[in-house]
Amino acid sequence: MKDIGQRHGSVGLREALPYMRLFKGKTFVVKVGGALLADALATREVLEQVDALRHLGIRVVLVHGGGAQASTLSRSLGSEPRFVAGRRVTDEAALQAAVLTLNGEANTALLAACRALDIPAVGLSGVDSALVRARRRPPVVVDGETVDYGHVGDVVSVAPGVLESLLADGKLPVVSPIAADDDGNLLNCNADGIAAALAVALRAVKLVLLTDVPGLLERAEDPRSLVSYVDLEGLRVMRQRGVLAGGMAPKTAAIESALNGGVERAHLVSWRVPDGLLAELFTNQGSGTLVVPELGTLTPAEQAAEPALP
Ligand code: ADP
Ligand code: MG
Repeated sequence: MKDIGQRHGSVGLREALPYMRLFKGKTFVVKVGGALLADALATREVLEQVDALRHLGIRVVLVHGGGAQASTLSRSLGSEPRFVAGRRVTDEAALQAAVLTLNGEANTALLAACRALDIPAVGLSGVDSALVRARRRPPVVVDGETVDYGHVGDVVSVAPGVLESLLADGKLPVVSPIAADDDGNLLNCNADGIAAALAVALRAVKLVLLTDVPGLLERAEDPRSLVSYVDLEGLRVMRQRGVLAGGMAPKTAAIESALNGGVERAHLVSWRVPDGLLAELFTNQGSGTLVVPELGTLTPAEQAAEPALP
C-alpha cells in the first residue's frame, strides 16, 4: 500500500481508509507557525489540507503563532525583540506589537485565506469568552540569570465551551495565542503551549505542530537527521543532551504536556513538504515526527516506518 502513495507522490486512498475510519468524529488541534503566514501559497495549501480533514468528519481547531511578524513590527517601532531559551521577553511595547500582529494581522490573514477556500472559519483569541485563563509568568532563573519575561502568560485553565459550540456548528475556530488573566491583563502566550492546552481541554486525540523544519531533528542544523518517531523518554534524553534548542524547547514542552494530559499522539510536520500534513496523518511512513507516550504503543505498521537517515 505504501508504494501507491510513493509511486504517485500522493496519499493513496486505500492506505488512508483505516485512518479515515479511526479519525471520523475525533478532534485534532493543528498549530501553524508564524513563518507560514508569510507564504500565501503555502498557507493556502495547508488550509486545503485542513479542509480535507474537516470533510472527513474530523473536528479541527487551528491555532497560529506569528512571532516573526511581531518581531518585525517591534523593530519598525524601534525596539529589538529579545529571546531567552526560545521564549520572547515581552515588555509593554512588545505586548502591543504581539496583540496587533497576532489578533490583527495573523488571525485576519488566516480568516481571509479561509474565505477564499469557502471554509467557515471564525477567529478568536484566548481572551474571547475566557477561552484561556493565563497567569503572568513569575521571574525565573535561566542559566544562572534571573529573567522576567514580562507580559508573558502561562496557561492556568481552558474553558473550551466556545470552541465546542463553534465545532458543533461546523465552523473552523482559528485561535490566536493572546490570553488574559482574571483581571483582564493581556498576556502573550506561546502558541505551541496554547495548542497543547486546547488539545487537552477538548480531549483531542492529536496535536499537530506545523513548523518550518522537517520535524524533530537529531542535529538541528541537519535536515537529514529527522527522527521519525520518539516517545516521552526519548524526548527527555534529547533534552538532556541539549538537542532541543530555540523554538524547539517550548514546542517539545507543549508536546509533553499534551501527551501527559491525555492526548494520544503529537506530530511535528513541515508545512514546506507538499501535502505533508495529509501524508503524516494518513500514511504509515508519515512525513515528520510522531511523538507517543511510550514506543510500545506504536502499531507494528508504524514501527515499520522508514528509520531516520543516519
Ligand atoms: P514555529 O514558528 O513553528 O514555532 P520556531 O522557530 O519557534 O518555529 O521553532 C522551530 C525551530 O526550532 C527550527 O526552525 C529550528 O531552528 C529550531 N530547533 C532547535 N533544535 C531543533 C531540533 N532538535 N529539531 C528541529 N528544530 C530545532
Ligand atoms: Mg515557536
